[in-house]
Amino acid sequence: MTVNLDRFAQGLPDSQDVAPLEQCQACGREIYPGEDVYILDGYIIHATVDCLISFVKPGYMKIEEALGVQV
Ligand SMILES: [Zn+2]
Repeated sequence: MTVNLDRFAQGLPDSQDVAPLEQCQACGREIYPGEDVYILDGYIIHATVDCLISFVKPGYMKIEEALGVQV
């Protein structure tokens, strides 16, 4: 049995020469071959904290505010 190592031999393509495969739905920048992504509700975004947060837009506040209690 032979293991195909072609994808390792080539290494990651130079992003300057390669056409993007997708556009990130969070930051709007291109997503190139070999990049890690998240899929959320069918949308593809970069697998980064920045893109994840800007896509999900979770509420950011103190715990007291979230619970509606007086501080
Ligand atoms: Zn992004």
